[in-house]
Amino acid sequence: MLDQPTRRDFLRGGRSGPPAIRPPGAGPEPGFSALCTKCGDCEAACPEAIIHRDATGFPVVDPARGACTFCLACTGACPSGALTETAPWPWRAEASEGCLARHGVECRACEDHCDASAIRFLPMLGGRSEPVFLRDACTGCGGCVAPCPAGAIRLAPTGRPTEAGTTPC
Ligand code: SF4
Ligand code: SF4
Ligand code: SF4
Repeated sequence: MLDQPTRRDFLRGGRSGPPAIRPPGAGPEPGFSALCTKCGDCEAACPEAIIHRDATGFPVVDPARGACTFCLACTGACPSGALTETAPWPWRAEASEGCLARHGVECRACEDHCDASAIRFLPMLGGRSEPVFLRDACTGCGGCVAPCPAGAIRLAPTGRPTEAGTTPC
């Protein structure tokens, strides 16, 4: 018999891992999962093909597949009211201690891929530079996630305490 997913699973988009990034227009839980019918229309509408279904069947945006352009095709395609244009996008980029530049390796891949100029490299002692993510400039598009060769960047919800080992943008 299959285990039934718990409320915690819904919030995380599966059995474990970070909080699920629902498509633009999604409100907070538990409202989103109560309204979403798992129809998949948002996934089909996304021209960037960055939406897929998580282990529970709900849609999630995967920034490892590319950046969100905020075209809101997903929002417009949603027939249930689970996605609405009034809900804010709460996600912003942050880098973990796995960032290569923090360990003295020359890397500016994230900065090179940020169209919003939301990443600055600050000179540090010893001649290395570290990235700083500018909260006010970051759109949360996720365009810096996939290019990071260390997999050190993720999108995190604003207004949430930062987990150990990460730097708030
Ligand atoms: S806003 Fe556009 S690019 Fe972003 S997830 Fe929705 S359909 Fe895809
Ligand atoms: S289009 Fe709306 S109801 Fe359908 S899966 Fe996406 S969020 Fe859920
Ligand atoms: S998520 Fe933020 S820092 Fe990353 S590319 Fe988009 S705007 Fe730039």
